Amino acid sequence: MADSITSGPRSYLEPLNLRGRISKPQPKGLPLVNLGFNELPYGPSPKVAAAVAEASAQVASYGTPLCDGLRAALAQANGLDADQIICGNGSEELLDVIARNFVRPGDEVLISAYGYIQFEMVAARQGATLVKAAEADFTSDVDALLGAVTPRTRLVFLANPNNPTGTVLPVSELKRLVEGMPSDVVVVLDLAYGEFTGFDHCAEVHALAEGRENVIVTRTFSKAYGLAGLRCGWAHAPAAMMPSLYAARGMGSVNRLAQAAATAALADLAVVKARVDEIVAERRRVAAALADMGITALPSGTNFLLVRVDGKGAEAAEALVVHFFDDAGIIVSRTREAGLEDWLRFSLGTPDQNDLLLQSARNFMEGPA
Ligand SMILES: *Cc1c(COP(=O)(O)O)cnc(C)c1O
Repeated sequence: MADSITSGPRSYLEPLNLRGRISKPQPKGLPLVNLGFNELPYGPSPKVAAAVAEASAQVASYGTPLCDGLRAALAQANGLDADQIICGNGSEELLDVIARNFVRPGDEVLISAYGYIQFEMVAARQGATLVKAAEADFTSDVDALLGAVTPRTRLVFLANPNNPTGTVLPVSELKRLVEGMPSDVVVVLDLAYGEFTGFDHCAEVHALAEGRENVIVTRTFSKAYGLAGLRCGWAHAPAAMMPSLYAARGMGSVNRLAQAAATAALADLAVVKARVDEIVAERRRVAAALADMGITALPSGTNFLLVRVDGKGAEAAEALVVHFFDDAGIIVSRTREAGLEDWLRFSLGTPDQNDLLLQSARNFMEGPA
């Protein structure tokens, strides 16, 4: 029964068998609320919608391959040099581009124990050996990462905040990581959820990369900017890497609509920040309400929570995933990583959607009447 909602064990042979996919009708015929993919629950702002509509009249022509306007806007918004910015078809593409540049079969790619699943896929596509460093309290551990470096380590991927745990290392720890890393190991700091920890946090992470020849910071418009479906991400990388990164990237990988939308979103940053503030306030409210019921969330710097039923194991997690769907039409993500069997992950929705989730959680904890 549960398996019809969530996927089975991960397999590189079944890349589309994604966690959280629904393959049965909602039993009460309720509208589905998908909180399984860490997406933003809002539509495009009016300015972004207008920019997409305008660009749609020009889709007969290619977007600019180098994303000139978007890079200029990103440079301006983040206080960076536009020549150190490369855009991609989602940051996902850039993770691959980076690995294609620096990793050959047999090389080691280092991540933390509960690191982002895409890092594993990227390493597998290069035929690399994946090495996982232990975590402490479901949080990446800099000493463990540094201790796992070998002469074959080429690349370190660290999402901070991390997905699926949501936990965050302070910038002082990231500094220790980049300072302790051999200069021939490329460190990728993935800031996909950075805005939900703070725009200041993002700025500090970019500052850490400035002047270093082996540190890349990746960002995305998919999460805080709410443009997941358009596919646009970017990386802040050392100037010396740029020619080879472009050589490894598709020429027209960032489409015209995505460039227009992302550029407009940067010009409409007050809306983005207001939405991030609402999500962060909801994150606090929902985590506190769940804690009162006996459902504990890990501390999160993201737009999602990883939770478990206190004192219960994987079966309770599985039952709660099924309950959310059957009871309220809510889709969440079942985490099956070794060591995360007791947990499930959901993104914060609108306040109404979160209320629905809280009521459904209450129904679960109180049991059948
Ligand atoms: C969602 C996510 C991304 C972003 O993916 P896009 O390809 O930009 O949509 C990157 N890293 C992590 C950790 C994520 O969770």
